[in-house]
Amino acid sequence: MFNNLFKFRGRLHKKIFSMMLAVGVLPIILAGLFSLYSVINSHNASLNSIEENLINQKIEEINGFVSDAVSTIKLRVGLSDIDKEFRDDLGNQTFLLNSFLNSNAAIQDASFIELSELRGNYGRETTRIIRNSDSPGDFILITKDESREKDSLRDQTNLPKFKVAKEEGEYVSPVYFNSQGPMVTIAALVKPNNNETKISVLSAELSLAEVGDIARRAKLGKTGYLYVVDSTSRVVGPDGIDFNSANNPFIKKILAWQDSGKSGIYSRYENYAGETVAAFAKIIPNLGWGVIAEWPIKDADSIINSLKYQILLFSVGVLIAVIILSVALADKIINPIKKLEEGTEFVAKGKFDAPVDIKTGDEIEDLGVAFNKMTEGLKELQALKDEFVFIAAHELKTPVAAIKGYLSIINDGLAGPVNDKVKDFIVKVLNANARLIRLVEDLLEVARSEAGRIKIDVAPIDISLVIKETMGELKPLADEKSIKVNYEEFAGLPKVLADAGRVREILVNLIGNSIKYTLGSGSVDISHEVAENNLVTHIKDHGIGMSKEAQAKLFTKFYRVATKETANITGTGLGLFIVKQIIEKMGGKIWVESIEGQGSTFSFSLPL
Ligand code: ADP
Repeated sequence: MFNNLFKFRGRLHKKIFSMMLAVGVLPIILAGLFSLYSVINSHNASLNSIEENLINQKIEEINGFVSDAVSTIKLRVGLSDIDKEFRDDLGNQTFLLNSFLNSNAAIQDASFIELSELRGNYGRETTRIIRNSDSPGDFILITKDESREKDSLRDQTNLPKFKVAKEEGEYVSPVYFNSQGPMVTIAALVKPNNNETKISVLSAELSLAEVGDIARRAKLGKTGYLYVVDSTSRVVGPDGIDFNSANNPFIKKILAWQDSGKSGIYSRYENYAGETVAAFAKIIPNLGWGVIAEWPIKDADSIINSLKYQILLFSVGVLIAVIILSVALADKIINPIKKLEEGTEFVAKGKFDAPVDIKTGDEIEDLGVAFNKMTEGLKELQALKDEFVFIAAHELKTPVAAIKGYLSIINDGLAGPVNDKVKDFIVKVLNANARLIRLVEDLLEVARSEAGRIKIDVAPIDISLVIKETMGELKPLADEKSIKVNYEEFAGLPKVLADAGRVREILVNLIGNSIKYTLGSGSVDISHEVAENNLVTHIKDHGIGMSKEAQAKLFTKFYRVATKETANITGTGLGLFIVKQIIEKMGGKIWVESIEGQGSTFSFSLPL
């Protein structure tokens, strides 16, 4: 893409473009990277805070669930005679336990433990009620009076629940697992409403199935989840999944924080299913359990993935805009410079009539104005020079013609006898004078052409007649070098619109050159072809030919190919220049095809 973009543009353009790109793109890349960095950072921070908030909420629910159960068993009874109405009347205890199990479905089993030492029951259960696991609405009652069941009412004096509850503590045991799942034992003291007497300890077995449900209800994105472990890393809930918590060092760490007062920690690791998760964990202070949130990164990051994509898209968009703008701006700066460059090319070709038109309103416009002034000056200088050449050539014309005339008279013996030696010299002077005459004529012609004063009268002409006439004229020259000039006549040759005299001038030059630049003997072949409303005439020789570099400079003023072969051939280097001016004036074109050492073909077209 860039190659195409710069195909027609120069080095300065590339430089300006690169500079603008550097200035424009670098900040975009930096801004993009910075916003990506801050998006990722704040995303990670917000992931953690989302997890932490959820965990906090769940901890509150779990704490609420446990403390609700505990506060239900902190019984205050309104009895006037404790012994009569409570200790001796097991019906009352049974009634209380019944209503207990009815009020909280998570309580599976509840019992009163005697605190009075009078009946020999101190520390023993007096009444116990068990929820029927097959039919949760039915309870099985066991009292101390039913002697056959007496053994099941155990001595509890040494159990921590008894010791803690007796001292008015709220007891929650470590989690244990039975056939119903995770459980805790809870215990508290039963007291009368308005009396400090300790009546009994009420102990209950609480199912923690609800804790699992609380964790299961927590939602983190699409695939994130929460679970609760007890102080020994066993999963309290939700059940059914092996979270591999026993082997998770992260959980070990959080559980080791018991009572340390530290809040949560986060980490990233592979979860039980091998997915990388963003994890956050907290300990439930009073229970010593851990709550762990694990959020698969793929899901958690899906929000910023689209954000990352948007940032990328935006950056690429801005990048493209900067590139287009840079190209356009560079164009804007370069274009006037290009115009100036084109102007100099015109000047180099001697054309002073094409002022540059630059309207940038700055120093480059001033430069354009100065450039145009310079061209004006050059134009005047050129005109002055042309005039000088014209006047000089014109003034030379008469004396060289006079020299020629008098020398011819002397040479012909009309001015008296001339010996052979003198004759020899006179011939040499005559030849030199002939060259001088040609130079003067060429210079006059160039001056006329430069001043636009070449006179051309076009009319439909039969070019074959002019060719044959010129061939006849040049025959002595060709014969001298044993060069055969062939003309391949064209059947039904159309007439061309041209000035016959000028065409003759062209042919004398081209055929003359073909003879002149063929060193030994050889041949010159003249042929025609019709192409696009033009008649093309080819003049082909088998002479010295010329290089590609020489061909490029041909047709310019005073250009002569300087090689060993041309060293002894005289000429002015003006012939082809004049020929080109004349042909173009008649609406035609001239070109050359040549191979060094093999020959050249000069071709020119004239309109039909
Ligand atoms: P001149 O012949 O007076 O030098 P021209 O303008 O006619 O000037 O030709 C310019 C130059 O082109 C010649 O000096 C010569 O080197 C080269 N040239 C022209 N015609 C031929 C040709 N037919 N074969 C090889 N070189 C040629």
